[in-house]
Amino acid sequence: MTGRTGRHFLHIPGPSPVPERVLRAMDRQIIDHRGPEFARLGREVLEGIRGVFRTQGPVIIYPGSGTGAWEAAIVNTLSPGDRVLMFETGHFATLWRQMAARFGIEVEFVPGDWRRGVDPAAVEARLSEDRARSIKAVMVVHNETSTGVTSRIAAIRRAIDAAGHPALFLVDTISSLASVDVRHDEWGIDVTVSGSQKGLMLPPGLGFTAISEKARAAARHNTMPRSYWDWEEMLKANASGTFPYTPATNLLWGLREAIAMLREEGLDAVFARHARLAAATRAAVEAWGLEVLCQNPDEHSPVLTAVMMPEGRGADAFRAVALERFDLSLGAGLSKLSDKIFRIGHLGETNDLTLMGALSGVEMALAASRVPHRPGGVLAAMASLGAGLDG
Ligand code: PLP
Repeated sequence: MTGRTGRHFLHIPGPSPVPERVLRAMDRQIIDHRGPEFARLGREVLEGIRGVFRTQGPVIIYPGSGTGAWEAAIVNTLSPGDRVLMFETGHFATLWRQMAARFGIEVEFVPGDWRRGVDPAAVEARLSEDRARSIKAVMVVHNETSTGVTSRIAAIRRAIDAAGHPALFLVDTISSLASVDVRHDEWGIDVTVSGSQKGLMLPPGLGFTAISEKARAAARHNTMPRSYWDWEEMLKANASGTFPYTPATNLLWGLREAIAMLREEGLDAVFARHARLAAATRAAVEAWGLEVLCQNPDEHSPVLTAVMMPEGRGADAFRAVALERFDLSLGAGLSKLSDKIFRIGHLGETNDLTLMGALSGVEMALAASRVPHRPGGVLAAMASLGAGLDG
């Protein structure tokens, strides 16, 4: 594209656009991370982030990415040779499984077709069979960013309880936190893993683990070697608002602002906004005559919508047209979905008009690249948002 004007439309499912307020909050000189000003900032964000995870317990904030926080969850709670139950919901569940296997964890990986989430009944059935209680943890990706399918965490918790199984419950909320309801305490999650660059509306660079008492107790006994990710080292320093190593100071200023924004809007309103924008996106896809990848209406993601390309048409050529012609970035299909789907992100700093802009870009790019479709997706999305032409 030549001579770009106006703003870039970043509609991948994270990293998501960073609000002006957060950008300004981070635009400051570095402070001494061992001084009193930092300790005040540290205490404030360590306290504030608990509300976002809906927990009274500690949340660890690492300089790192979501993948690092995945590793923290594994190395603190599991030992080589432990068995865990995981589900093939998509690319990210597959990567987390691969990581666990590299640490010598024995993963029972329930196969899936990447179009549905974790079946709570299957969790209950498998755990009930495990009479020896050899399964140490159930590990689930809440929002599969590769497919646009959101597993039902509260129902999975109920399934674990129905089986009366003592397994730890580790949940990846990297692309759901602050976009979809996550209740660390109420849902009895033992480790909630997350990252900064999606619903929290920050740049990439922070990883989080919220931890239960049970997870912390497991960490005290497990034999897995660990250092950087060790919770106890971090919690000791965090008690005074500091970190055992150099923290990502300016991202923490940003986090302070993002937490303030989420509080002002109210978490429930944030979740309702995401659900509404997702419904409008699906209305557009349906009007175009294209297919949403997620097959279970109870599991449609409020964060992103994955759209299947018509047979014989490559998603990547279409995405290239969207970028080149309209300065619109759409998410690519990952691993086995490569070139078969495109993903529309509608998370974080998004509202009715930014979504309508993105959907207009998709519809124009479908036409420009001659992908077989029906026009009218944009109008359907407007009607879904409550602004139909009859109003
Ligand atoms: N899990 C999920 C659900 C994700 O969406 C991602 C990244 O997109 C990751 C894990 C990996 O996180 P990161 O890329 O921050 O390391």
